This record gives sequence, structure tokens and C-alpha cells, in this order.
Amino acid sequence: MELLKERIRKDGVIKEGNVLKVDSFINHQMDIKLMNEIGKEFKRIFSDVQIDKILTIEASGIGIAAIVAQYFDVPMVFAKKAQSINLDGEMLTASVVSFTHKKKYQIIVAKRFISEGENVLIIDDFLANGCAAQGLMEVVESAGAKVQGIGIVIEKGFQDGGKNFRERGIRVESLAIVESMDAENQTIVFRDDK
Ligand code: 5GP
Repeated sequence: MELLKERIRKDGVIKEGNVLKVDSFINHQMDIKLMNEIGKEFKRIFSDVQIDKILTIEASGIGIAAIVAQYFDVPMVFAKKAQSINLDGEMLTASVVSFTHKKKYQIIVAKRFISEGENVLIIDDFLANGCAAQGLMEVVESAGAKVQGIGIVIEKGFQDGGKNFRERGIRVESLAIVESMDAENQTIVFRDDK
């Protein structure tokens, strides 16, 4: 998605440790016009499959997934990262290792929000090692629902998440795939750059 790649080149900040900061337009302040274009693009890409529900993970996935869900005209569910008194009934859980915080945590979705046989599209902002998306897949599968695909805004192609999913036959569609990036020179190469 050219618009997204241009924006990453212009406003993305490359940090040491393979971290790309996009907090001026995705992760902290959000450019809603761009989010709408992202929503439209996911709808176009996944127009060949039935999608009944969008699933993401708190916190930064929520804003994106909410707009994506508008284009699919389906509900959006976000997995929670902490138990809370507001969570009741039967729970679906999976354990995830955080890329950004390097910690292991549980993700939790109330069972009543993902039903057996539903077609689910997983949406997230970044794909790195794939732990977050794997946890979300486990939640969907434990509900007896089907993962129709994983839609990612920015995939870091030099990390293994995307490769591993695709090798397992899981459909991963990323709007921008970073092939390499350099914190010292602030340069970034996308997979389909000439
Ligand atoms: P994974 O579980 O695939 O290793 O990492 C994906 C999760 O870590 C995403 O939900 C995202 O929040 C976070 N993440 C991974 N890499 C980056 C990055 O380079 N920049 C930012 N802002 N978040 C990242």
C-alpha cells in the first residue's frame, strides 16, 4: 500500500533493537484518514472470503480494528491482556510473549464473543515474531471458529512471524513489509521496492 509506505518513510522512526516507531500516525496519535484507507484496503484484499468478526489485541490494535470492522460491517472483539472484574463467564485464553516488553502474558477473550463456526479475521498493527497473532489464532481455534486470515498493517519481514505462518498455509496479508531498516541512517527498504 503505497500511501502507507510513503508515510512510514516520512514519519516512521527506526529505533535500535529492530523497533519501528509509528506513534505520530498509528500507535499514539492516529491519522484517521489513513486508518480509513487501511480499512478499505483490508476489505478489498479479503473480499473473496466470508468474515463474521474482526479480532485484535489491546491496546494499539483496537483503533485500527475498529475502523477495519466498519468496512466489513461486522463486530470487532479485542483480546484483553489482564484479568478484570468486568470479565465474567467462560474465558478463552492463550499465552503470548510481548515483543515490545519482552514479557509473557495471558490474552483473554470471553467465550461468548467468539462462536463456533464463525469466520474471523485477525488484525494487528505489527507482525514481528508472530507471538501475538499466534495467541489470537489459538483463541479462535479453541472457540471452534475459523481464522480466515491475518491482516497486518506493518510486517517486519526480517523477523520470522510472517514466514512461519505462510509456511503453515495461513493467509497473512500485510499492507507494508519492511525488508530491512537501519537505525543509524534512518533508512528503510520495503519488500517490493525496486
Ligand atoms: P510479535 O508478537 O509478532 O513478535 O509482535 C507483534 C506485537 O508487538 C504487535 O502487537 C506490536 O504491538 C508489537 N511490535 C512488534 N514490533 C514492533 C515494532 O517494530 N514497532 C512497534 N511500534 N510495535 C511492535
